[in-house]
Amino acid sequence: MRALVLVDIQNDFLPGGALAVPDGNAVIPVANALQAAFPLVVCSQDWHPTGHKSFASQHPGKRPGDQIQLERVAQTLWPDHCVQGTRGAELAADLDMQRVDTVFHKGTDRNIDSYSTFFDNEHRKDTGLRDYLEKRGVDEVWVAGLATDYCVLFSTLDARQLGFRTFVVEDGCRAVDLAEGDGERAFAEMARAGARITRSDQA
Ligand SMILES: [Zn+2]
Repeated sequence: MRALVLVDIQNDFLPGGALAVPDGNAVIPVANALQAAFPLVVCSQDWHPTGHKSFASQHPGKRPGDQIQLERVAQTLWPDHCVQGTRGAELAADLDMQRVDTVFHKGTDRNIDSYSTFFDNEHRKDTGLRDYLEKRGVDEVWVAGLATDYCVLFSTLDARQLGFRTFVVEDGCRAVDLAEGDGERAFAEMARAGARITRSDQA
């Protein structure tokens, strides 16, 4: 049994949003077309309380893109984004939700970020996605969404670590590319972890 996991396709990550991913809109038609090939489709939604510690605005003198140490992990600082209940946090209006079974929230703890749709960045708390997939007999996960070099990357690495056969839909992802080539390096890292990099027409 296989499932499609659509990562963070939200207004703030689209052009015009607070943390716009270049060409982020391009993943929406791919995500919509993919859904018919899967018996189970879920979404993740970055869902921060106000004043989340991943926001540069919470750290005097820091700017988006700066690195700090947050608890025990390195944290890149971001503009305020995906604040619970705001329009920016909403899933993209053009994303087809008819076949989406469940939406998993992440990043809800003010003190720790969560790039992965499975765990926070310290692997302390679980979003519930793992149990949800396992209870339904899912052994194969396909990942698409935003952004390649953060939430897609960490979701994929966790899926592999949890033992899922894992595919990443290259044309269904776009990268932030804070440093040029981050997206390409992320695909390479996912491949090294045993994920198959594929395209939507292979689904
Ligand atoms: Zn976030």
